[in-house]
Amino acid sequence: MTVSDAEHNVAHVLVEALPYIRRFAGKVIVVKYGGNALAGTTEHDALDVFASDIVLMRLVGLRPVVVHGGGPQISSLMDRLGKTPEFRHGLRVTDAETVDIARMVLIGQVNPQLVAAINLHGDYAVGVSGEDAGLIRAVPRDPALGFVGDVARINPAILEGLLADEFIPVVATIGTDETGQPYNINADVVAGAIAEALGAEKLVYLTDIEGLRRQVDDPATLIRQTTADELDALITDGTIAGGMIPKVVSCIQAVRNGVGRAHILDGRVAHVLLLEVFTDAGIGTMVAPDHIARSLEDSLGSPSPIVRSLEDSLGSHQGERP
Ligand code: ADP
Ligand code: MG
Repeated sequence: MTVSDAEHNVAHVLVEALPYIRRFAGKVIVVKYGGNALAGTTEHDALDVFASDIVLMRLVGLRPVVVHGGGPQISSLMDRLGKTPEFRHGLRVTDAETVDIARMVLIGQVNPQLVAAINLHGDYAVGVSGEDAGLIRAVPRDPALGFVGDVARINPAILEGLLADEFIPVVATIGTDETGQPYNINADVVAGAIAEALGAEKLVYLTDIEGLRRQVDDPATLIRQTTADELDALITDGTIAGGMIPKVVSCIQAVRNGVGRAHILDGRVAHVLLLEVFTDAGIGTMVAPDHIARSLEDSLGSPSPIVRSLEDSLGSHQGERP
């Protein structure tokens, strides 16, 4: 019997994935799926590819949690209702009617769309909102913005229960204050806070650009690997702007508070999640906690596969299963 190159490649891919599957078994990975990515899903159905990646991760033993936004979809319903969206410093001014609309869109439209897409590949997805079982306690961010919240506290009990029962939680980012008033909260911020609360191995942002750039209009300036300290500096000097700010701030905070790695990846690339998690290819931007990255720079030249072999040597310390 002869084996074709294609078959040989399949075997190679599976063998390459094996150490990653072993290493990440049982680990939580929080994935934020951007509203822009959702709005742009038509031709090769990026949503379906994303959904199958999430189910595959679950089937090989990871515990994915999906957090989604829905900014474009909220704007579009406001438009249909004759309300003009207003933004201040990138944040939506959210009066009582607008928070109602945000709630309808996120919990009534975007969340079930993601749940349905995932469940086409395996009945694991369960939609929850930050209102469920007190998952997201919100505080107002700035009275001038109305019902735009920040995360005061995450109560991960509902997520822990779902994960223990092997479900895939899909989180809509509406939170409530102590009076039960709903707030719309930036999904990037919520993803970071949930990753921290769950002690996730990875926090992944799927967005509409291949990663962080040193110059936003120059793809050749992609930052493949960085640290929380370096990102602090890039925020201060204005390199990071607009919708990238809450992602980067959340990456910094997450890796400083116990999350293993944070990644900013291009959600438009088919199977980008699988490429990141299960292959040796360094893809997008990876954010490491400061000390590990520094010790790397001291000893090695630092392309991504080397980071990974170093991580492997550190694996036992991260509580890896045999
Ligand atoms: P999402 O729907 O994924 O949250 P956003 O539009 O909010 O998407 O954020 C991603 C955008 O951030 C990119 O499309 C890019 O225009 C912008 N951005 C700002 N600064 C940077 C940077 N330094 N590197 C990459 N993208 C940046
Ligand atoms: Mg955004």
